[in-house]
Amino acid sequence: MKPEDLRSEVARLLGDETRVLTNAAVVERLSKDFYWYSPVLRRQLEDKRGDLVAQPVSRDEVCAIAGFAWQAGVPVTVRGAGTGNYGQCIPLAGGIVLDMSRMDRMDEITADGTAVCQPGTRLATIEAEARAKGWELRMYPSTLAKATAGGFLAGGSGGIGSVKHGGLRDFDNVRGIEIVTVEEKPRRLLRTGGEIHEVLHCWGTNGIFTEVRLALAPAVEWTQCALAFDSYEECFDFGFEIAANAKWDKRLVTIFEWPIPSFFSPISQTVAEGKALAFVMIASAQMDALRAATTKAGGEVTFAGAYTGPKTQPLLSDYTWNHTTLWAMKADPLWTYIQAGFSPDRAREQFRTLRERFGREILFHIEFMKNGEGRMIPGSIPLVYFTSEERLNEIIDTCREIGVSIANPHMNSLEDSGRFRSDNLQIRSRQSYDPRGLLNPGKMISYKSEAVAQ
Ligand SMILES: Cc1cc2nc3c(=O)[nH]c(=O)nc-3n(C[C@H](O)[C@H](O)[C@H](O)COP(=O)(O)OP(=O)(O)OC[C@H]3O[C@@H](n4cnc5c(N)ncnc54)[C@H](O)[C@@H]3O)c2cc1C
Repeated sequence: MKPEDLRSEVARLLGDETRVLTNAAVVERLSKDFYWYSPVLRRQLEDKRGDLVAQPVSRDEVCAIAGFAWQAGVPVTVRGAGTGNYGQCIPLAGGIVLDMSRMDRMDEITADGTAVCQPGTRLATIEAEARAKGWELRMYPSTLAKATAGGFLAGGSGGIGSVKHGGLRDFDNVRGIEIVTVEEKPRRLLRTGGEIHEVLHCWGTNGIFTEVRLALAPAVEWTQCALAFDSYEECFDFGFEIAANAKWDKRLVTIFEWPIPSFFSPISQTVAEGKALAFVMIASAQMDALRAATTKAGGEVTFAGAYTGPKTQPLLSDYTWNHTTLWAMKADPLWTYIQAGFSPDRAREQFRTLRERFGREILFHIEFMKNGEGRMIPGSIPLVYFTSEERLNEIIDTCREIGVSIANPHMNSLEDSGRFRSDNLQIRSRQSYDPRGLLNPGKMISYKSEAVAQ
């Protein structure tokens, strides 16, 4: 379809041409995410973009676009806030970028603690509104301030809170997702219970989310604190104990080896020169006990302050999860990362092996999280100093050889970057929800459709 015809058809469907964006710089910006964290993806994806951006404000408009896309064979790539990694929302085959940011209405917090909202609602909005009513998010990514609920469910996996509640796919943390299918007559379907897994973490390839329902937890009065230890090993052991021992009520347990804390220039008051650092969010009622336990373990509390909501300053979670990589890249753009799961039983030996093989090319940064069986896992987003793609792959291969699981953030497909289901549920569901493979084509590489040139 000619660009001008595409623009006028989408404007007609929305009934408002101001919500169809064609300015080249705007389309470029809204076609991109944080793919540049990966030097490999940066090369592969920098010239990819959509043909135009459409900004729906209602389910009906999403349905109209979906029906048109099916009829005209036009790809549709859905976008939340574009904070995803792996180039998740970068269109590989042009077409429409469906920017959901205007569908940002918070509908309800139910009496049993479920947040019901439109997909473009920012997680910070949900957290603030929930806490005002005695609830809070069970988990949020460190991109809390910007990330949308729909983008988190389609592209994220867990975050601050996962040490207590597990990941998005665990423990009924997601209660419902309404999708619009891409078919001749698009359907609106509410997926609940086990059906959630048909569409969760599918990078926008299995229906367009138009409503999400997130389970909340009763709000806790949290204190965020920084704890410094002479060695990484002591810091890791202490963090593991706090994370795994059910007596501690915590929302975040993060460990950084030195020199990672030296990258945190805006919060240098939390950093002790040359020491490993733990960032912990602990129930305020337990802060005195945590202080005593820290001293007993040979550590020192370098900072403690109340968490009062997403606008708390400083907000220590801004330095955790994948934000750690961002601070490292600000210090030296050659830092990149991998996403790893160390073994709860063999982590110390795995650290030693990697240090012996790769020295300080890899720096340890641990995010403790509960897995679906309730076991505490030293999840990790280690920093890797990039020298070449071959060396990066050698580090990844070595991790796998020694039993460290890797979700490879330098690959642009759902299958390669971790959390793809081995039971093929997502592929089978797509045959029903997006039979022509028009949603974010090229990202679910094992889905075969005849209709789209990928
Ligand atoms: C600094 C940094 C820190 C991060 N920390 C974390 C973390 O702690 N935990 C974590 O899990 N992730 C993390 N991420 C990744 C990312 O922030 C999260 O996945 C985030 O939730 C994405 O939300 P978004 O609105 O920006 O989604 P986008 O980036 O816009 O989209 C992500 C994916 O979801 C799809 N999508 C978006 N909206 C919809 C919709 N309505 N319907 C269907 N598909 C849709 C897109 O097509 C894309 O494939 C981090 C990223 C960065 C850059």
